[in-house]
Amino acid sequence: MSDTQDTIVQERPLQTEGKKPSEMVNLVGLSREELIETVTGFGLPKFRAGQIWHWIYHRGAKSFDEMTTLSKSVRAELAKICVIGRPDIVEEQLSQDKTRKWLLGVAGGGEVETVYIPETDRGALCISSQVGCALSCKFCHTGTQPLVRNLSAADIVGQMLVARDTYGEWPSPRGSRQLSNIVMMGMGEPLLNFDNVSKAITIIMDQEGISISKRRITLSTAGYVPNIERCGEELGVNLAVSLHAVRDDLRDEIVPINQKFPIKDLLDACRRYPTAGNSRRITFEYVMLRGVNDSELDARELVRLIAGIPAKVNLIPFNAWPGAPFECSDDAAIEKFARIVNDAGYSSPVRTPRGRDILAACGQLKSASERAKRRTTA
Ligand code: SAH
Repeated sequence: MSDTQDTIVQERPLQTEGKKPSEMVNLVGLSREELIETVTGFGLPKFRAGQIWHWIYHRGAKSFDEMTTLSKSVRAELAKICVIGRPDIVEEQLSQDKTRKWLLGVAGGGEVETVYIPETDRGALCISSQVGCALSCKFCHTGTQPLVRNLSAADIVGQMLVARDTYGEWPSPRGSRQLSNIVMMGMGEPLLNFDNVSKAITIIMDQEGISISKRRITLSTAGYVPNIERCGEELGVNLAVSLHAVRDDLRDEIVPINQKFPIKDLLDACRRYPTAGNSRRITFEYVMLRGVNDSELDARELVRLIAGIPAKVNLIPFNAWPGAPFECSDDAAIEKFARIVNDAGYSSPVRTPRGRDILAACGQLKSASERAKRRTTA
């Protein structure tokens, strides 16, 4: 269709008659194809979808009023039937170390937490994929909250939009950015909500919008093996694996999904993951639990297990939460563990806890309403 024809079609009034407020369409979280379908379904030409995409994801428009490349009448009509929905900010906290945490109310009910971890000239946004979590890892605060539901693609992309609003990163910066990286390491297991996670990450990677490259996105899984391959094929993002134990008997206990997908299956899937040779490595996360998984023997077994996988090992000092049944390993044990892994040729950084004062560190996330519930029933 030529531009001239597009313009003629666009002159027609939109087919908006008789829509009820409950039928408002949220344009956030639609794939490009779905947006085109929606927009042409209203009687608008296809190229308008591209413009709307640009306004939402490149310019950060929150209302149709801002979309000045659309005629006033089209903007007014769109506002009657569509929204550019963002999660509600229920609470926002800033840590002494400048880590920021939002408690967000998402469409359909429920709350999730999103965390921004700033570095000097960049920073990572830690995004949630589910309200609660089904996996019940024993050291994880989120794991004490049952799975409430999967987040929609709109809820997932919406976390990025809220963060960008807060840091004023609209339009999408070409050069350096505060929100430079994304880690799918918030509440929930992203590979158990993979359809929505994949859709959301595809939107976030789109170069005519938020435009974050797959090299700057890391998806962390506790080991839902069946979707690891899909993650590599569909998204090609960096993979992080929450290993945390080197023997099945221990891992069965502290990361119970191991009972279905044991260490061998998990590592086989890692071996098959596309890492483009050694240039991109799989990150193995390993929470340091005093007297549980932090011995020299554990470190040596870890090195033996991951032999042949382009990998790095991220050691995470255990972050305590009220009632947690573990303690963090002492510094000497962590250091010794790191040295053994490092001497075997794997980079083994110890993750500095960030935002502990506002319960924003790894494994501390939980809906505030859930915390309140526990307080009243305790
Ligand atoms: N479900 C995914 C995403 C969560 S990522 C996964 O399990 O990978 C969060 C990371 O923090 C995971 O490696 C998780 O195991 C780790 N973690 C959970 N609780 C923790 C705690 N209390 N202290 C330190 N790390 C923790």
